[in-house]
Amino acid sequence: MKGILLILGITFVVFVSACVSPPTQPTKTDSSFTYKNVAIKWLGHAGFEISGPEKIYVDPFKINKSGTADFILLTHEHFDHCDPESVRKLQGKNTEIFGTLNCVKQFTGRINTLRPGEEARYPDGITITSVSAYNLNSSYHPKNFGRGFLVTVGNVTVYHAGDTDFIPEMENITADIALLPIGGLYTMDVEEAAAVARTIKPKIVVPMHYNSDAFGITNISADPEKLKELLNGTGIEVKILKY
Ligand SMILES: [Zn+2]
Repeated sequence: MKGILLILGITFVVFVSACVSPPTQPTKTDSSFTYKNVAIKWLGHAGFEISGPEKIYVDPFKINKSGTADFILLTHEHFDHCDPESVRKLQGKNTEIFGTLNCVKQFTGRINTLRPGEEARYPDGITITSVSAYNLNSSYHPKNFGRGFLVTVGNVTVYHAGDTDFIPEMENITADIALLPIGGLYTMDVEEAAAVARTIKPKIVVPMHYNSDAFGITNISADPEKLKELLNGTGIEVKILKY
């Protein structure tokens, strides 16, 4: 009997607290934001559209839109980053494609492969720089298998980290906006992403590569609000986007 009373009591407390304090809503904003003259839109998973004077896509995956990209940057050959169907929807005859050889060899057109540290400069103030991205704690992405990218549009630099852990090379990265994976398993997790943000000190961090169930990837759950908590007081803004 005591057991039943205890269970009833717990049920009552849970019911009352549920009524008194409604569950806090996650602070998801929108799928995009604008920093200076550059708009950043999350396409889900590791996919982004960066729009300034030109349209730049990074790792478009299972996208349902089409249009002509000026640049398509593909961080590595894994299917969730190098998606030929998405590239086909975005590639025009002047589209510059960047990626590792194993990814880009299946495409024709303007193909570029850059080693880490190499850059390509274009009119309209656009510079694409390839940087290292690899795992230290697993073998999913060995060194030199993939890339991250620094995309400079005018005086704004966006860093897309690719699939990576927190690697020493990140200490040399300077960016206004950092797009960082937080899902763990194949990449850094939330705590590591916070440590990366404290190292790079961008103005804005955008979490990516997590909660990708809609893309058929179910094992990289993470709470982006935790990134916000971990960076509280650093002056670094965490933009949690939806897709
Ligand atoms: Zn990968």
